[in-house]
Amino acid sequence: KLHNTILELKGNIRVFCRVRPLLPEDSRSEGKILSYPTSLDAQGRGIDILQNGQKHSFQFDKVFTPEASQEDVFVEISQLVQSALDGYKVCIFAYGQTGSGKTYTMMGRPGYADEKGLIPRSLEQIFQTKQSLKSQGWSYEMQVSMLEIYNETIRDLLPSNRSNQDLSRTENSASKQYAIKHDPNGNTHVSDLTIVDVRSSKEVSYLLNHAAHSRSVGKTQMNEQSSRSHFVFTLRISGVNESTEQQVQGVLNLIDLAGSERLSKSGSTGDRLKETQAINKSLSSLSDVFFALAKKEDHVPFRNSKLTYLLQPCLGGDAKTLMFVNVSPDSTSGGESLCSLRFAARVN
Ligand code: ADP
Ligand code: MG
Repeated sequence: KLHNTILELKGNIRVFCRVRPLLPEDSRSEGKILSYPTSLDAQGRGIDILQNGQKHSFQFDKVFTPEASQEDVFVEISQLVQSALDGYKVCIFAYGQTGSGKTYTMMGRPGYADEKGLIPRSLEQIFQTKQSLKSQGWSYEMQVSMLEIYNETIRDLLPSNRSNQDLSRTENSASKQYAIKHDPNGNTHVSDLTIVDVRSSKEVSYLLNHAAHSRSVGKTQMNEQSSRSHFVFTLRISGVNESTEQQVQGVLNLIDLAGSERLSKSGSTGDRLKETQAINKSLSSLSDVFFALAKKEDHVPFRNSKLTYLLQPCLGGDAKTLMFVNVSPDSTSGGESLCSLRFAARVN
């Protein structure tokens, strides 16, 4: 059965599939379950998965096999990133089960410069372009914010007071509202959220380190919270051209989603059950929003989750959306991989 043929929809949402390499800790006993069709029409776009003796075939806008480097991936998205400088609102998501390579795709491998992910690569490109557009009269101001959505609650990942040296201090956030408001110009305001002016990609990587640290502090307290929360990095760009007086306002949102695994295995109770329900709710809301946008429905259910409501102005309209569906190649992940591919096929 070809699941991706259930829908013949083709929206503005592009989907790239990325399969990570087999890791030493993966099981190898049951053999390969993923293959890539070589027929002309599916080359570089198709992926087949064998599950319980059945082959399921999918096609996406692009399929990156385990050999694809971070550079290979970035080449395919650099234009999309660039469009934020032209005033577009851009969202790039990483979707997949925990361990499938979402954070690797977004951030890269810590300490390995050539394995930087698309967040640092995007920022380097944006600041380089900003520099080169100076000669054409363009000047840009950039602001970043970084937040996490856990159990439908927003947590600020940047230090609220820049002179505050204790960067792990986030206990104040409990008393904050983080109410989301959209103004008529399509700008999003989150009350109490820290917004930092940035002038270089170095400054941003400094802030990214804080955010990672801030997340890992939560992790020890809350049992792997980072895989159960959505990480939202936002870069706001406003540009003005001194000779033409042209103005642009772009936004680049880069989102490392919570692990999509069905945590509902028996014994999931209490806090864990609440987490599961929150993740399922927001991921299914995301899917519902993409689906409604693709079908050009009048009502798009943005308000069903914090994530979709936060990103509302950056989804649909002339906004540009790309979703990575990350999958593991090992056979024990087969069930989850199939679920992820089906999810992605639904929104593609
Ligand atoms: P997730 O964020 O989805 O939970 P990670 O990005 O942490 O998954 O990836 C799990 C492990 O696999 C990490 O050790 C990561 O370095 C490794 N990994 C993921 N994708 C790749 C890749 N394309 N190449 C090499 N290693 C990868
Ligand atoms: Mg991760």
